[in-house]
Amino acid sequence: MERYDIVVLGGGAAGLMAAVSAAEAGNGGLRVSVLEGNARVGKKLLATGNGRCNLSNRFVAPTHYHGDVSRAAGLLKRFPTEKVIGQFAHLGLLCRELDEGRIYPYSLQAASVLEVLRLHLEQRGVVVQCGTPVTEVRREKGGFCLQCDGKWLQAARVIFATGGLAYPQLGANDSGYRMLRALGHTVTALRPALVQIRTEPRRAKPLKGMRSSAEVTLLVNHRPVQTAKGEVQFTEHGLSGICMFELSRKAGECLERKMGPVELGLDLMPEYTEPQILSMLYRTIERLPDLPGGELLGGLLNRTVGREVLRTALPQTPKAAAHFSKGQLTAVSRMIKCFRFPVLGLLSWDSAQVTAGGVPLGEVDCRTMESKTCRGLYLAGELLNVDGDCGGYNLHWAWSTGMAAGRASAHSLQNGISEG
Ligand SMILES: Cc1cc2nc3c(=O)[nH]c(=O)nc-3n(C[C@H](O)[C@H](O)[C@H](O)COP(=O)(O)OP(=O)(O)OC[C@H]3O[C@@H](n4cnc5c(N)ncnc54)[C@H](O)[C@@H]3O)c2cc1C
Repeated sequence: MERYDIVVLGGGAAGLMAAVSAAEAGNGGLRVSVLEGNARVGKKLLATGNGRCNLSNRFVAPTHYHGDVSRAAGLLKRFPTEKVIGQFAHLGLLCRELDEGRIYPYSLQAASVLEVLRLHLEQRGVVVQCGTPVTEVRREKGGFCLQCDGKWLQAARVIFATGGLAYPQLGANDSGYRMLRALGHTVTALRPALVQIRTEPRRAKPLKGMRSSAEVTLLVNHRPVQTAKGEVQFTEHGLSGICMFELSRKAGECLERKMGPVELGLDLMPEYTEPQILSMLYRTIERLPDLPGGELLGGLLNRTVGREVLRTALPQTPKAAAHFSKGQLTAVSRMIKCFRFPVLGLLSWDSAQVTAGGVPLGEVDCRTMESKTCRGLYLAGELLNVDGDCGGYNLHWAWSTGMAAGRASAHSLQNGISEG
């Protein structure tokens, strides 16, 4: 039977960083292996940040995270942005900062990030086994027994980095949660996060393919609960774009708790007040009285979006600009400031970037990421009950927990004890 000191389950961001850190901390004296279910490691990593990999953020702080945030705060403090950038510099990767504190590899290619991790695993003699999904992990005296690919392996320490349920096309599945439950852990309710918001199809479909910048307010029971600004992408099923991702977690939560009608109100001209927009419309009518009514907003908004705003604001659009009444123009200006979309739900795991929910942080020692219920077992990454905002926060969490788990598991073997 193959025997290792440390086995890492999952060759994603957290798992690869955990293996690199364990091998480094072990200083060549530990046998480390990564077991990955996919044919290759880092499949999801290559898809991150539209292939550019937004790997961290200058503004990492608990306020950008959700779930067991208060328990995560200490770990985030011990692994600030500089530490993650420093670790990558140590691995030979130069980073750069772009808008809103987002950190990327200088090459702007996710492949560079995966490459430095892979090279270091190779250099440190870590055994990477792909196409080997682990199906069972059993506790045994002095360590663990793992079943994969029809064979059993032994390991003194096991690091779980099997990720969440988001994007099953890239290998996400529930096997990690299942095995952790069998080892005594619990898992909170799991929900897709950073995902498109599904809206009334009659409202969404006519706008499919359009984009507009807007300030978007999530309304629950007609009251504002969260606002985000950015480019809205109209899709067949609803609304997408980073600002929608940011609102999706709260929207899902409010729907699940049946807090009343949930809507998205788009302010399509956030820089202007309603009276200012009304004056602009009067000026347009003065200049172009014969302009076809449906084109009234052509100079202000995306053409298709403008027509849809008119169609929604008025039961019938007047034939020419000059025929708009004061009441109709007021209704149109109001609609521009709050173009409402009733929310039906969120899109499924197939289009979610992360998982909200997971193993409660209270079940691990956040200094080492070691399980409190099963000593010698370590947890890292998205499978924990912490998820971050869009902007590099989720990968930052994966690297930080991976580093903590990798180092602590190696040290516990060197010290001949389980840390804690
Ligand atoms: C399209 C997309 C874009 C994203 N962009 C960004 C971004 O730019 N910035 C950012 O911060 N975050 C981004 N994220 C989120 C980020 O990718 C994840 O939060 C992060 O990858 C989580 O790392 P992880 O190692 O915990 O899980 P994963 O990266 O999902 O890795 C888990 C690995 O475990 C393997 N595995 C699962 N079960 C088993 C098993 N039983 N046996 C063996 N192997 C197993 C899986 O195949 C997978 O390779 C994005 C996500 C998606 C889907």
